[in-house]
Amino acid sequence: MFKKDFPLLGSKVIYLDSAASAQKPKAVLKAMDTFYKTSYSNVHRGTCHLANMATEAYENARYTVALFLNTKADNIVFTKGATESINLVASGYAQMLKPGDEVLICTAEHHANFVPWQQACLRSGATFKVFNILPDGRWNLDDFKAKLSQKTRLVAVAGMSNVLGVLNPVQDIVSMAHRVGAKVLVDAAQSIAHVPTDVKKLDCDFLAFSGHKLYGPTGIGVLYGTTEALASLSPYQFGGEMVDKVTIEKTTFAPVPARLEAGTPPITEAIGLAEAINYMDKIGFTTIQKREQALFEKLIAKLQHIKNIEFLGEPKYKTGLVSFNIKGIHPNDLSAILSKENVCVRVGHHCAMPLHTFLGIKASLRVSLGLYNDSKDIDAFISALNKAIGFFK
Ligand code: PLP
Repeated sequence: MFKKDFPLLGSKVIYLDSAASAQKPKAVLKAMDTFYKTSYSNVHRGTCHLANMATEAYENARYTVALFLNTKADNIVFTKGATESINLVASGYAQMLKPGDEVLICTAEHHANFVPWQQACLRSGATFKVFNILPDGRWNLDDFKAKLSQKTRLVAVAGMSNVLGVLNPVQDIVSMAHRVGAKVLVDAAQSIAHVPTDVKKLDCDFLAFSGHKLYGPTGIGVLYGTTEALASLSPYQFGGEMVDKVTIEKTTFAPVPARLEAGTPPITEAIGLAEAINYMDKIGFTTIQKREQALFEKLIAKLQHIKNIEFLGEPKYKTGLVSFNIKGIHPNDLSAILSKENVCVRVGHHCAMPLHTFLGIKASLRVSLGLYNDSKDIDAFISALNKAIGFFK
């Protein structure tokens, strides 16, 4: 139904790798092209009409993102992706944490929400703590409660796992964390494209995502922070745009968000991201979720008929993506054959080595859906998968 909006998705490509990066609709390509052709300039510094148009377009993009998350434009920092957003917060915390403080994350985190915290703790002398998941893939909330303490300064968790596909009960964790005075960062890199995200409702302190998983371009990411949380971060990088006054003796910094956006920002990419949000808004999350859920149920039902399939976690708790292995066949071998059939999936540890270690496996095959997928994609994938399995019999 929506496939026609995505130029790369002709009848040949069966794209089931949207969790890695989503394809881009014509509207996004057109908005970026038009901006380059008609209004491109650097932002903020100029006085000519082009600079004013570019600044207005860039700041309008910030406003669009803010509305999408139910917050104000001043609470939105543009970065180059979820990884940079999380690193920005972690580098601020590396300076604020002290020995005795604790940071708590989940074993299922993507490396982007794992390694920066491990490093921040190493640098500051704080303790890095990890809570487990249950065998069915959901958070082990008893383990979370046992590891949360008065010493916890920050909890960093994914809204949706990029391997397990579980939509996590972030709100429950936020209230528990706030009760002990800890701040919460939500890694929304996966959840952002599948469910509406309301930072007021979530009540989180920080939230990070990338534009490219939300049908926008690469090179643009978002860090949401409450005014207090953003103000607590010292600048991540230094240079133009982020200063108030510079003298030989000292530099004073601009207020957030400018203080955290040193140098020329990803201007056209921000405009592309705003257009992706407009595109999604036109379809609406009700339609997106209904379609994806129906398709996902079909996918799971078909996979459950496949002999020797081993799911990572319980399929009934998943949304939008599923990871599995076929006993006795390496996922790389399966993927190589799927690729010959024009089916794009992802294999490996999916940047979640601690999770794969916890599950006692090295790799898995992941199938992930986007709003453009349809029933034919599922049929083509299942038929290619059966063919691939048959090859190894
Ligand atoms: N967090 C999660 C859950 C992800 O799935 C990813 C990417 O796959 C990231 C963070 C990092 O996103 P990016 O590489 O766009 O910075």
